[in-house]
Amino acid sequence: MTTATGFIDAHCHLADPRLDPVREGLIKRAADCGITHFLQGGVDPADWARQRRLEHTGVWRAFGLHPWFVAENTAQTCADALAQLRHELGDAVALGELGLDFGPRCKAESRERQRHYFRAQLELAQAAGKPLVLHVVRAHGETLQLLRAVAPRWRGLVHAFSGSREVAADYIRLGLHVSLGPALLRPGFRKVKEAVSHIPRDHLVVESDAPDGPPLEENCTFNEPTVILRVAEVIAANHGVTATEVLTSSRDNLLRAFAPA
Ligand SMILES: [Zn+2]
Repeated sequence: MTTATGFIDAHCHLADPRLDPVREGLIKRAADCGITHFLQGGVDPADWARQRRLEHTGVWRAFGLHPWFVAENTAQTCADALAQLRHELGDAVALGELGLDFGPRCKAESRERQRHYFRAQLELAQAAGKPLVLHVVRAHGETLQLLRAVAPRWRGLVHAFSGSREVAADYIRLGLHVSLGPALLRPGFRKVKEAVSHIPRDHLVVESDAPDGPPLEENCTFNEPTVILRVAEVIAANHGVTATEVLTSSRDNLLRAFAPA
């Protein structure tokens, strides 16, 4: 892992094929704003292969089995993918995305399988000494329980956090960082907007989740990393500091959490 000097987007999917026609321009626009590094969220084996093909030096790879992948595939496919993850994880900075998604996107019948592969990946992360990129939707209680059952301390982040200040504090007690993204710029998301000023900046990082999430501009079909500047402005206003200070502390936190153990 190279040492970052610019700002870091704490979570995005630069290998997403939707970005193929626009990736170069998007990375250039990010660089023009001082964003030089991008921590990925890994989804499935096909995505890990695409991440390997990205040539940009600022890409920090993360390989994991996303809860959506686990929910949508058979137990056999998941078992094969886990075996492959065991084999390939050494080439990634982090294990993720992993977690639980009990939202409407995933069938309730998939929950048991999600729990199984979440736990298996937590054990793998412990054995390999890798930090986590967590994806958690409507399942914070169970996620926290499983994390505590496997180990008392963790490194990594909870991506696109939209929970309350109490839940944020629970993750932080385990050593994790809370990653805030474009939800802060959209209507709704009351809980996390109320939580922002209570999340200590030494455990707060900033992400775009690009290209996911509804775009903020009407003439755009996806979201891009430069959106972290606007997310940082909202956090800055809540903490009485500048956006640059937020981006700088986010970068320093990510370097600490994701540097090899
Ligand atoms: Zn993601």
